[in-house]
Amino acid sequence: MAESGWEAILVSAGTDLRYLTGYNAHPSERLTCLVVPAVGPPVLVLPELEAPLAAAAGVTVAVRPWAETEDPFEIVAAQLRAIGRAGTVGLGNRMWAEHALKLGTATGGRLELAGPLMACLRMRKDGAEVAALLAAGQAIDRVHARMGEWLRPGRTERAVGRDIAEAIVAEGHERAEFTIVGSGPNGASPHHDLSDRLIETGDLVVVDIGGVNEAGYCSDSTRTYVAGGRAAPEISDCYAVLQAAQDAACRAVRPGITAEAVDATARHIIEEAGFGANFIHRTGHGIGLDVHEDPYIVSGNSIALEPGMAFSIEPGIYLPGRYGARIEDIVICTAVGVERLNTRSRDLVTLDA
Ligand code: ZN
Ligand code: ZN
Repeated sequence: MAESGWEAILVSAGTDLRYLTGYNAHPSERLTCLVVPAVGPPVLVLPELEAPLAAAAGVTVAVRPWAETEDPFEIVAAQLRAIGRAGTVGLGNRMWAEHALKLGTATGGRLELAGPLMACLRMRKDGAEVAALLAAGQAIDRVHARMGEWLRPGRTERAVGRDIAEAIVAEGHERAEFTIVGSGPNGASPHHDLSDRLIETGDLVVVDIGGVNEAGYCSDSTRTYVAGGRAAPEISDCYAVLQAAQDAACRAVRPGITAEAVDATARHIIEEAGFGANFIHRTGHGIGLDVHEDPYIVSGNSIALEPGMAFSIEPGIYLPGRYGARIEDIVICTAVGVERLNTRSRDLVTLDA
């Protein structure tokens, strides 16, 4: 902050606040805002009626509860005036617009996004964070291990998704965050979620699932299954390309390699096989308290990977109107290379009907 000439950063309810204080505040129209000055101690401005929640979460920074009829934006502005002139203030990227605009008016300062600064901290996971991500990864692996219980021809994607969501919680998450069951042609839509389509024998099914555990850390893993019967030879060939690309990108991870070079590793293999136009998204995204966060594994991101960075490696091949396939693991860049947090087989698994 001092290097950027910022006075402070302001962080409202959300994962940045949880990261900095341990307090998982509920985002609402009532302003919760951590004021972190470049110099001096931080202060958490929060609704008086939620002060007990912050205390229960073990918040150790000073708090300034505001009563229902007070103006919390003016209180934040007063905090900033107390530390100096009205200069540039960084705002958490996911602060609600109504809070951001009212803080801008109340403080009179110049506003910038604090995202890049927060990313510097959040990208590099410490030991406890890696352990929390590993626990989440192992929990989602246990859900994939049970896929044969639910994923069968004759059931709808929605029914399968409901069972998966229940298992995500049962296997060690606080809540399910997303359940993608893309069967047959629906698999060609990478962010398809669930539909009432009946799964057919021999369908290729993309299952991309994740949840958030008690520590707040996310899981996110994709496997592609064949629902009964056998995959057509053409599908097996396409899948072999994808599997080679995913494996090569995972193996490429080590300190010093750029995010875009990891993306290029997967993309090159898929392009060489003639499916370049069918790989329509980046190779991966960082993961932590958010499912998607820095670093993004994408062309144009020249950041060099460092030990402690956690992200997905998830190339996919999508043939519109026909089928899709994706393989996704969460990996950690370690001092010597890479550790995969998801360890289920990446082969095309046929679930017997
Ligand atoms: Zn995913
Ligand atoms: Zn992902």
